[in-house]
Amino acid sequence: MSFLKFSLTSTLLTTLMATTAVADEVNVYSYRQPELLKPLTDAFTAQTGIDVNVAFLEKGMIERLKAEGRRSPADVILTVDISRLRGILDEDLAQPVNSEILNGNVPEQYRDPNNQWFGLSTRARIAYVSKERVKSDEFKTYEDLANPNLKGRICTRSGMHDYNIGLTSAMIYHHGYEGAKTWLEGLKSNLARKPQGNDRAQVKAIWAGECDIAIGNTYYMGAMLSDPEQKDWADSVNILFPTFEAAGTHVNISGVAMAKHAPHPDAALALMEFLTSPDAQEIYAEVNFEYPIKDGSLPSDIVAGWGSFVPDDVNLMDLAKLRPDALRLTEEVNFDG
Ligand code: FE
Repeated sequence: MSFLKFSLTSTLLTTLMATTAVADEVNVYSYRQPELLKPLTDAFTAQTGIDVNVAFLEKGMIERLKAEGRRSPADVILTVDISRLRGILDEDLAQPVNSEILNGNVPEQYRDPNNQWFGLSTRARIAYVSKERVKSDEFKTYEDLANPNLKGRICTRSGMHDYNIGLTSAMIYHHGYEGAKTWLEGLKSNLARKPQGNDRAQVKAIWAGECDIAIGNTYYMGAMLSDPEQKDWADSVNILFPTFEAAGTHVNISGVAMAKHAPHPDAALALMEFLTSPDAQEIYAEVNFEYPIKDGSLPSDIVAGWGSFVPDDVNLMDLAKLRPDALRLTEEVNFDG
């Protein structure tokens, strides 16, 4: 009798373990906008039956993960910008993930050598230029943006924003701290107004005639074209892909990591692998207007129509290391003031 009871129990256990091997939900902490994620998470749930709970955070993800510690519900961390991924790693809030699928889908320069983060998409930081007021030969490089011929013609968001800190980090990488300082001072003296608003607000300013050139990320062009209120702004500009004098165009990534104390690691892995799959990469391209990261995945026709470029091949982790210098430099030249 007791043997029978034992075998029943163990059968039951085996069955339970088999059915619960992969959880039916996965929790995501995201710095990415919910509307950008929804098409991806919907497709994942349709394919796997695993529900995705997304907590969208405006800021403070690191503080929250630290405060929650081992009891954190977070399985997967989604963010943009290499510096934020590095911040997660610096605080020991992620865990290594060994996956042939992830390693196969994500090129080496866009993932952590220790498998703690993986890029999912790339974006270039480019120049939006007035169709009417900017000639194609007025500037070619990021360095040119500091030239006096562009005085009073440039708009940008805050120099302290992660996107601009990434660009300034790259300038420090290529020209050293002092060289980057001269550049940033020159750029500041070319501004049409104090840094303010987001990337799209700069394109609106071109449309309104306040400036001729704006620094912004590529995918906002797609977002503006899709928004009836913003389409006129987009139609007033072309995209130019500046390069560094001795390198390519500045790119950054969106990426993913598995939280250190993920309560549903199998479901987390399934989601991470899905996000690098051809299906998900196509959503990044078609819906979010980003550049897919997987070799062989193509940008959407709209994005391809903006032109092609050679990305700066600097290792993104090297840029992330320069972030403190870039923050200090931007304060030193009082860029936003
Ligand atoms: Fe953005």
